[in-house]
Amino acid sequence: MGGIRFYILHMPERLISAIRDIPDFPKKGILFKDISPILSDPSLLQLAIDLLTDTVKDKQIDKVVGIDARGFIFAAPVALKLKAGFIPVRKEGKLPWKTFNEAYTLEYGKNTVEIHQDAITPGDNVLLIDDLLATGGTACAAVKLINKLGANLINVSFLIELDELKGRNKIDAPVTSIIHY
Ligand code: AMP
Repeated sequence: MGGIRFYILHMPERLISAIRDIPDFPKKGILFKDISPILSDPSLLQLAIDLLTDTVKDKQIDKVVGIDARGFIFAAPVALKLKAGFIPVRKEGKLPWKTFNEAYTLEYGKNTVEIHQDAITPGDNVLLIDDLLATGGTACAAVKLINKLGANLINVSFLIELDELKGRNKIDAPVTSIIHY
């Protein structure tokens, strides 16, 4: 009975059926995966947090790094569950203290992400979280920042991965995604 209950509570299928596909957002040709229906349902939000936390089961994590902005939604509660600290990687110009930054290429143009220079102690065990892995440019830049601070990157975890874009090939660390398209 306990086994069946565990299975029902931990099915990523419940998350998949809540994700809404929005064609041509924010621009033509992009099929946007809208996770708002997951966030507004406490049992689905809890399930997403639990499954992301399980990606580092049995590992000691000191810091959970979340990527601006939807990564923050998941990274902070996962950090609390792991009794770890939360660290934001933010878009350029948002962090008030001394930063390291990393530019990366988007489909059109460039973007830059930043981290506070004192956010991580060298040797800290780090989990990096974002909502979705597409081409991998954003996560790859965040990984470079984490490595620059001398952290021990244990895992990079996503709620959703778009497999055909092969973003995980750009990430020089173990990658786990809960849902694959
Ligand atoms: P990328 O750098 O190409 O891996 O893009 C990842 C970032 O862009 C993540 O922070 C996502 O939130 C966002 N993103 C990219 N593609 C999508 C999509 N199809 N649906 C929702 N978010 C996306």
